Amino acid sequence: MHEFSLALGLVDRLKELAKENNAKKINKVYIRWGKLSGVIIDSFVFSFNMIKEEEELLKNCEIIVNEEPIVYKCLDCSLEFEKEDFKFPKCPNCSSLNVKQIKGDAFIIEKVELETEEEEK
Ligand SMILES: [Zn+2]
Repeated sequence: MHEFSLALGLVDRLKELAKENNAKKINKVYIRWGKLSGVIIDSFVFSFNMIKEEEELLKNCEIIVNEEPIVYKCLDCSLEFEKEDFKFPKCPNCSSLNVKQIKGDAFIIEKVELETEEEEK
C-alpha cells in the first residue's frame, strides 16, 4: 500500500498548488518517474485515479507519466550512457565497471496544468 499513500501525498500537494494559484480545477499532472525510484508506477496511477474521484478539484485530472531513462556515468572516462536494466553496468567505451548511476530514480511532479477563474469566460 506504499503507492496508495504516495498517491494521497500527491493529491495533497495538488490541492496546495491549486490554492496557491487560485485554481478551481487541475486538468493534468505530469510525473517524472524512473524505474530505480522503487515506486510501482501502475499501482500509483491506479491509486491516484481512485482517490481523484472524491475530489472536485481533480475529477478530470489526467495523470501523465514520463519515464526517466537509467543513466550511468563512467568514473574513468566520464562517458554518460543509458542502460535499460541496472545489473552490472559496464562502460561501453572503456569497459570500466567503475560507474555511477546519475539518473533513473526520479519521482517528482514535473508540471501541472491548472484552470484558473480568470481563464474561464
Ligand atoms: Zn568508461
